[in-house]
Amino acid sequence: MNNYKNILLTIEFSEHDEAVAEKAKDLAEQLKAQLHIIHVLDNIPMPDTPYGTVIPLDENTHDKLLEAEKGKLRRIGNQLGIALSQCWMVWGNPQEEIIQLAVKLQIDLIVVGSHGRHRLAVLMGSTAKDVLYRAQCDVLAIHLKNT
Ligand code: AMP
Repeated sequence: MNNYKNILLTIEFSEHDEAVAEKAKDLAEQLKAQLHIIHVLDNIPMPDTPYGTVIPLDENTHDKLLEAEKGKLRRIGNQLGIALSQCWMVWGNPQEEIIQLAVKLQIDLIVVGSHGRHRLAVLMGSTAKDVLYRAQCDVLAIHLKNT
């Protein structure tokens, strides 16, 4: 397993990220590999409030929300000791963008969280499954509890 030089950690901004990130970090340290992280924005970030999700009407709000999302990724990168140049945030379809970035960076291992084969994922597909089937490199799926 010591041939992995470039690892891509995928982050969805949920309570599951920590478990996935910890394993990716440990592995990268053990193998002395470069660790990159990616979060794909697949919708317009909107704030949740006690009375529901607020749809911002002024243009600046959207920029502020995007900045907040970038801040989240920067913080996670910081905690993991990953340089800013190795933190990636892109718009699009998560599985497509993860696979494309992996090719671009010559990633040899993608790390994803896996919620297992719960019924909804089987019907609708899941990021983990699509990445596993379509990636051109190895994929490590970290089993997530509390699906
Ligand atoms: P899912 O299969 O969609 O339930 O997501 C499982 C895993 O896919 C997450 O734990 C992340 O590792 C990855 N993932 C899901 N959505 C995203 C996203 N928007 N950006 C980056 N990674 C993601």
